[in-house]
Amino acid sequence: MSQIPERVKQWMPAHLHGLEPYDPAFTPCDTILSANENNFGVPAAVRDEMLAALAGVEEMRYPDALSGELRAELAAWHGVEPANVLVCNGGDEAIFNFFLAFGGGAKLLNCPPTFEVYELYGSMVGVSAHNVWRDPETLRPRWDELLAAAPSCDLAVITSPNNPTGDAVERAQVERLLEAVPGPVLVDEAYAEFTGAGQLAAGQPGTALPLLAEHPNLVVLHTLSKAFGLAGARIGYVIADPGVISALAAVRQPYSVNSFSQAAALVAVRRREEFEPNLRTLLAERSRVQRALAELPGVTLWPSDANFFLMRVPGAAQLRARLRDEHSILVRDFSAKPGLQDCLRVTVGRPEDNDALLGALGTLLG
Ligand code: PMP
Repeated sequence: MSQIPERVKQWMPAHLHGLEPYDPAFTPCDTILSANENNFGVPAAVRDEMLAALAGVEEMRYPDALSGELRAELAAWHGVEPANVLVCNGGDEAIFNFFLAFGGGAKLLNCPPTFEVYELYGSMVGVSAHNVWRDPETLRPRWDELLAAAPSCDLAVITSPNNPTGDAVERAQVERLLEAVPGPVLVDEAYAEFTGAGQLAAGQPGTALPLLAEHPNLVVLHTLSKAFGLAGARIGYVIADPGVISALAAVRQPYSVNSFSQAAALVAVRRREEFEPNLRTLLAERSRVQRALAELPGVTLWPSDANFFLMRVPGAAQLRARLRDEHSILVRDFSAKPGLQDCLRVTVGRPEDNDALLGALGTLLG
């Protein structure tokens, strides 16, 4: 995708002149470990039922605007009311709508290095970010500074586990943030299902959701793109106070979640426990890969609660190019990002994906 030419930029408002089309830096490769997708995909039996459900979709009708059946199923899973849930076109849409609803002219408490779209989407609707940078060594949030800055901000976002650093936030810290920020706090839990085994059953331990009853400014974000292997279907959802859900529903495009994706997601969520075996394998693989990489010369790793991890290695950008060009393995280069010098982000894949990665890195670094 080419850049926006100056003659077109002059038609755009000045605050958008810094934007460029998103480039996922994707190259087709045999082993894709670059986008934190779930390489296990959907279990075969669940996928068969999904395909049957797709055949029953009435494509000539508009979709159910609020994804009623899916919303009810998600609510039952998480032990909340349907009025607490809003289904979105991926977590991305939820993040965008969060800023659209609450962000105009507001000051956002942000904790980089983190998911870059918070600042990007915020900037589109006049949000200015107050960045409290993570500790440069541990890459963990600096809680004292965050909490000190919170009262002077209007809203906040915290990511647990964080992308790209991989660390989850303790519920007690989220609670302090909810008490200190005067407005809504988005807790982005896109990777919550990877914080430990058993997250697909009721009462997930890896989520801030139990705080909702006492803290109506809590806005929890989940997605089916990661643990459920449905990145292509674009289904995310927010759990929050019904008033917050109404505000998010008011700014959204009514039919942003298409009927096919609703049907596929409903099957996935109903049969969620069938995703658990692959999830357990993935967690075991995360430990195996990290243990093996820690043996390689020059490699620094950070612990991860997600389906990816960050690794620092001298000449990271060049290493990423060699993995791609000589071994057909794609990982994500963060080495040019502030605070992430020489860092690559590696998704944990199936055992065979991880074997390919370990073999290639053994050759390139060993
Ligand atoms: N939050 C975080 C932290 C993410 O990394 C991502 C995906 N990269 C998302 C939200 C959005 O995911 P999706 O739009 O696929 O639901």
